[in-house]
Amino acid sequence: MPTGTKTQVDYYHLLGVKRGASAGEIRKAYRRRARKYHPDVNPGDKAAEEKFKQIQEAYGVLNDPKKRKLYDQYGFYSEQFRPGAGAGAGGVGFDFGGFDFSDLSGGRGTSFRDIFSDFFSRFTGGPSERGPERTRGTDLEYVVDIGFWDSIRGAVRKLAISRLDACTACRGTGAVGGPTTCSACNGRGTVMQQSGRMRFNMSCTRCHGSGRTRTLCRHCRGDGVLPRADTLDIRIPAGVSNGSRVRVAGKGNAGTGGGPPGDLYIITRVRGHEFFDRRGDDIYTVVPITVSEAALGAKIEVPTIHGRTLLKVPAGTPSGRRFRLREKGAPSVRSQRRGDHYVEVRIVLPKVLDQRQREMLKDFSRLTREDPRAEIYSAAAR
Ligand SMILES: [Zn+2]
Ligand SMILES: [Zn+2]
Repeated sequence: MPTGTKTQVDYYHLLGVKRGASAGEIRKAYRRRARKYHPDVNPGDKAAEEKFKQIQEAYGVLNDPKKRKLYDQYGFYSEQFRPGAGAGAGGVGFDFGGFDFSDLSGGRGTSFRDIFSDFFSRFTGGPSERGPERTRGTDLEYVVDIGFWDSIRGAVRKLAISRLDACTACRGTGAVGGPTTCSACNGRGTVMQQSGRMRFNMSCTRCHGSGRTRTLCRHCRGDGVLPRADTLDIRIPAGVSNGSRVRVAGKGNAGTGGGPPGDLYIITRVRGHEFFDRRGDDIYTVVPITVSEAALGAKIEVPTIHGRTLLKVPAGTPSGRRFRLREKGAPSVRSQRRGDHYVEVRIVLPKVLDQRQREMLKDFSRLTREDPRAEIYSAAAR
């Protein structure tokens, strides 16, 4: 991903709350997370510090009903939304009270572009001859919850997103028709101003001195892009784990002025499994074995994520010994090689149910006559 590209982690995910969470739930979640990642609690931990900043950012938006509404609508939030930050090219102030995007189409001096100006960096704006500057679209990030088996085998998910798409009415140019002579300055690029008895020339604010203007597309107000709801079929590759980033090329926000679109990143949140414990690409399980299997050795069937496989337990295997099943772990999203599967065996006590079993066990201990504590007695006496 190119540096300087703006992405936002899903704010709800950051705070660990559902999208419909109440203000109280958000506040509680924020306090809990802020305590956990506070720099005082994690001295010198850069990752925790970064997380703490993100959590504060998320709370700053979700705790404000107006900001939260915009965030919910567009899937991202820009500080350019702040009151007074969106003054238009002509220095027209902008009242954010009762803010509603539908008002903008009739507003003067301000357009969608002004509000998202940090997404369209250094956009010169105004109805001048120049179209929108060529800028790559920004990336989007969405968190997707998937089950354990889908993470192992891969899956296709429908994902509803909100993204900026090229305006179809002007094909992303922001203007209709060719350049025409600026009506404000009659093509001179300057206008005469009079103040008392002083007259002076000023650069024309309508055409920015170029003398020519284009008719703005009335659908996108010259931005060339429009927010649009989109439903995508996302292919989640086999082997993703909790926190994997899956890139969907070209499905981020549309670029301006013919610039390429950004990418969409899917962050996978994978649910755990009751039996299979995944760490990296390796799988860990605990498998019970009987006393006789441990003592005499046995071939036992153990479940892996690729089906059952035979594990040879050698004679005299102690409880807690770990065996490695090569490449029986999770597929890797990065390489062709699979992880390994580690089986920890645990000896379970035999259930003594009848008199005959009891006699046999007694016979066995008489025959072996071993004292498992002999070692510790001598060690304790040293
Ligand atoms: Zn348009
Ligand atoms: Zn002009």
